[in-house]
Parts: sequence; structure tokens; C-alpha cells
Amino acid sequence: MMTFQELNISEPILRALAEKAYETPTPIQEKAIPVALRGKDLLGTAQTGTGKTAAFAIPIIQQLARQGVSGKRREITALVLTPTRELAAQIGDCFQDYARHTGVRHTVIFGGVKQKSQTDALARGVDVLVATPGRLNDLMNQGFIRLDNVRHFVLDEADRMLDMGFIADIKRLLPKLPKEKQTLFFSATMPPAIADLARTILRNPVKVEVTPVASVVDTIEQHLYLVEKEQKKELLISLLKREREKSVLVFSRTKHGADRIARILTRAGIGSEAIHGDKSQGARERALANFKSGKTRVMIATDIAARGIDIVDLPLVINYDLPDVPETYVHRIGRTGRAGNAGTALTFCSREEQVMMRDIQKLTGKKLRPVTLEAR
Ligand code: AMP
Repeated sequence: MMTFQELNISEPILRALAEKAYETPTPIQEKAIPVALRGKDLLGTAQTGTGKTAAFAIPIIQQLARQGVSGKRREITALVLTPTRELAAQIGDCFQDYARHTGVRHTVIFGGVKQKSQTDALARGVDVLVATPGRLNDLMNQGFIRLDNVRHFVLDEADRMLDMGFIADIKRLLPKLPKEKQTLFFSATMPPAIADLARTILRNPVKVEVTPVASVVDTIEQHLYLVEKEQKKELLISLLKREREKSVLVFSRTKHGADRIARILTRAGIGSEAIHGDKSQGARERALANFKSGKTRVMIATDIAARGIDIVDLPLVINYDLPDVPETYVHRIGRTGRAGNAGTALTFCSREEQVMMRDIQKLTGKKLRPVTLEAR
């Protein structure tokens, strides 16, 4: 497996990634970061949940830090366009996290809120601007934003931009950007209108694609348990007692939840360990080694901590709760059923979580019939 060091990421960023408990690059990061660091244009087919934000944010931060950002008057040198305010905020958080030791400064602008704090931040000077198209146009028309110094341009979720009717805005914006720049173009899908747009914007792009996450699922047997929140621990204990010899990975959305599940299982006499970002690197590595060797039968992990887990023969994954984004479900269950092995994924879904389960089934295109508890 590749490391971030091997991607030639600079020390201040490596330190920030370690603090985020990122252990290894995701496939899109492995492919996109070296290309972007060379200053090339990039056409990336990747969905949210693949780690694509870091795939463009890291090389941009590194290139800006190399050009030297401290001291001089800051001008917008990188522009990231994204369709929704949620995405804009998330991307802003990523820049915040990854750039914290570099001195690279960013701000986020989007519509639906007053513009004053946004224009104040712009007036103080930023290196990176993350924006939704509407508010960007708005503030440009009012003279708050100049883009003539942009050297790096990211178009994020282009297909969603199309769905949301932003393509005209983007076409209007393009002539206002300098010709000489690097463009990183990301889309989950490539319908003809998006492929055309990419062709007009990009210069000799390197194409990078990660398999759409939703396709993993077919090889994995999925079962859905509709249970009340309070019933989950009983159900987990009884399932684990039944499946005696198997290695089981249990997912928890929160660190706190992971610790609580571990305590409940220990009390029930089931050997388990929790791993998450609050544990030291050493503790996580030890837990992982114990799990891989079979010494610990049950591992409870948060989504972030589980990124580094790659076990070929993992027969069973249990979703103790549902993740916030549907794509994460696909990543979770993709831990099992690797390399042609059989895999089973069980999901505990409470009444409050049924909306999320609906979104998941829409993403995977697979309708699950709930297992009735009495019939087991
Ligand atoms: P994205 O696809 O950019 O929305 O990222 C999905 C999630 O994965 C975010 O919560 C990131 O913080 C997280 N993430 C991105 N890259 C890594 C990595 N290399 N290791 C662990 N987590 C990551």
C-alpha cells in the first residue's frame, strides 16, 4: 500500500494528515495527487466519499505553499467551485485542516446567508476561495472579487452543477479566469454535456477514474434488521454469539459509540476492541494486528479509522448504526467480500434511520427486505 510520503507531500501537510488520522491515501488520492502536483490538468471521475476533496486540496495547498504565501498581499490564487453550500463548507473544512501548518489562507462563500462576513474575509485577503456559482457571480458583479491571479481552478461535482442549472454561470465565469492556469475537473458521472464542458476547459488532461462505489455491492450478501435503538445491543450480542468463529468488523458512526459497544461486548464476554481517531497510532496498530491475527474476534471502528483496514478474508461486517452519507455504507460493506471471498453485511436500522436507509438503497439500486426478528 502506498503512503502519503511516497506521494511527495510536504512535511507541514503530512503533519496535518497525521493529525487527521489519515493513514494511507485513497485510490483517487494516489492517482490524482502526483498528476496535480506536476501542474497538469486533471479530469477525475469520482464521487463524494472517495476522498476526492483531499485529492485536489492537498496538491493546491502544496503548490501555493511552495510559491510562498506569507508576507505579500494575498490574492485569490486558487478557486474551487462547487454546487452546494454544504459541499462548499465541507471543502472549506478540508482546506482548514490540511493547510493549518502552511500559512495558506482560504475562505468560503455561498448564498442564502448575509454577505457581510464573506466580503470582510475577502477584504482581509485569501489565497484560496471556495465558492458556489451564484454567490461568486454576485460578489464579482459587486466588485468584491477579482480572479486575475487565479493559477489553480477546481470544478467540483460538475454533473451536479449541470443538474442544478449552473452550467451557464460557469460558462460566463470562464473568460474571467486567466488563460494560464491549472484546472482540476471532477464529476461523479460523465454525461455528454459534461464531457463537452471538460473538453473545452481542460488542456491535455490526465484522466483519473475510481470505480463508482455503488458497484462493489453485488458480491456481498446484505441483510437489514429493523430494530429499535434500545434493541441493538441485544441483537449484536446474540448475533455474535451465534457466529462463533468469525472475524467481525462492527461500524459505529461515532468514537463514543465505538467505545460504548466495546464495553457492552466485553461485559457480555465477547472479546472486542475499538479503534478510532482518539486512540494513539500505536494503539490502533496494535488493535489492527490483533484483529488480523484473529486474536481479537470483533473490532469496532469508526468510518475514518476503518479507512486503513484492509483484510482480505473478512466474512462479516455489521453496521451498528447508519452512516451520514450513503456512499459510506458502500465503503463499509466493501470491507467484506474481497478478492472473491464470500461476504455478508448486516445493518441495524432504527426508526429514525429509515430515511437514510432509503437513500442508501437508492444509491446501491438494491432493495433489501428486512429480516424479521421473530423468524430468526
Ligand atoms: P470526500 O470524498 O472528499 O468527501 O471524503 C470523504 C471522507 O473521507 C471525508 O470525511 C474525509 O475526511 C475522509 N478522508 C479523505 N481522505 C482520507 C484518507 N486518506 N484517510 C482517511 N480518511 C480520509
